[in-house]
Amino acid sequence: MSRIYNFKENINEEELKNIANILKEGGIVVFPTETVYGIGADATNDKAVEKIFKAKGRPQDNPLIVHISNYDMLKSVAKNINNIEKKLMDKFWPGPLTIILKSNNKVADSVTAGLDTVGVRMPSNDIALKIIEASNRPIAAPSANVSGRPSGTKIEDIYSELKDRVDLFVDGGPTDIGIESTVVKVENNTAIILRPGKISLEDIQELGINAKLDKHIFADVKKNEKVESPGMKHRHYAPNTKTILIEYAEDKIMVDKVDKYINNNKNLNIAVVCFDEHAKYYQNKNIKIIKMGSIKDPLQISKNIFSILRYIDKLELDVCLIEGINKDHIGTAIENRLIRACEYNIL
Ligand code: AMP
Ligand code: MG
Repeated sequence: MSRIYNFKENINEEELKNIANILKEGGIVVFPTETVYGIGADATNDKAVEKIFKAKGRPQDNPLIVHISNYDMLKSVAKNINNIEKKLMDKFWPGPLTIILKSNNKVADSVTAGLDTVGVRMPSNDIALKIIEASNRPIAAPSANVSGRPSGTKIEDIYSELKDRVDLFVDGGPTDIGIESTVVKVENNTAIILRPGKISLEDIQELGINAKLDKHIFADVKKNEKVESPGMKHRHYAPNTKTILIEYAEDKIMVDKVDKYINNNKNLNIAVVCFDEHAKYYQNKNIKIIKMGSIKDPLQISKNIFSILRYIDKLELDVCLIEGINKDHIGTAIENRLIRACEYNIL
């Protein structure tokens, strides 16, 4: 069973050195970032990166994001950075933005899954930055979860799933944002969002940069269809419980849909995940109510959502209905995760 270092209150320098040594020697470590927990390995060490794929059961064709702590490391992994990419870095790094750049082939082939591009991010979480700095190399780190499962946003949620598969856990408490980084690729002077996150389409447009959402953000990928990001093809974030998304609309429409579902399925054990403000509508209906946060505070919802998706599996439900959210700003990212968690079952 792997050890856990507790960095919630402060970073222990001795333990930080141990983490760096594990990474330098080709080990893999779970550590916090501001988005979700990651499983990190030396991005230049093929064998170490292979361990991540094995620990997660991750499809080999799904490339990893490389995490850096300074601009010298950027030079060591990517080349030919254009003005728009530079502008995005200046504004949003360190922070929850991954930029797909031209690779200069210094990271392990398994990191890029053989593509000529590499996804790079400079995180803002202090623990993550210190770990990368101390190991003095780019760190490949996908989300800390078994592939297909909801991403890990606190150690308690992922410890049993990963305990025999990694060398060490670093506990920094619950992550701030709770959903993964925005992934963006610049093509023909346009920033294409391949995966939405806290940094939104609107945030990028505000910089005067042309930006758009990739067409697969809310749509499933058809068989043999070409995608910009291999991850789009794979199953994601799904609880074991059957989940159905209630399309966002005015209160009455959403509540009517839930009511109708409950009435038509009286023999089923049902729960609803809803905005705090909507809980009152579902009382006395003989279903379990799980509040996801205030409709006025989508960042709180993004922080809670993966933990809730894991929690519903503990309730022995037949079905869990989940209220959808308005698709703007960070709502775009939350809805993107929910649609996939519900495997495109929408009411
Ligand atoms: P995760 O590591 O679980 O946060 O997922 C990383 C996401 O970034 C996946 O959807 C990958 O497909 C995507 N990604 C990473 N590198 C690239 C790349 N070079 N080109 C396109 N997408 C990428
Ligand atoms: Mg992931």
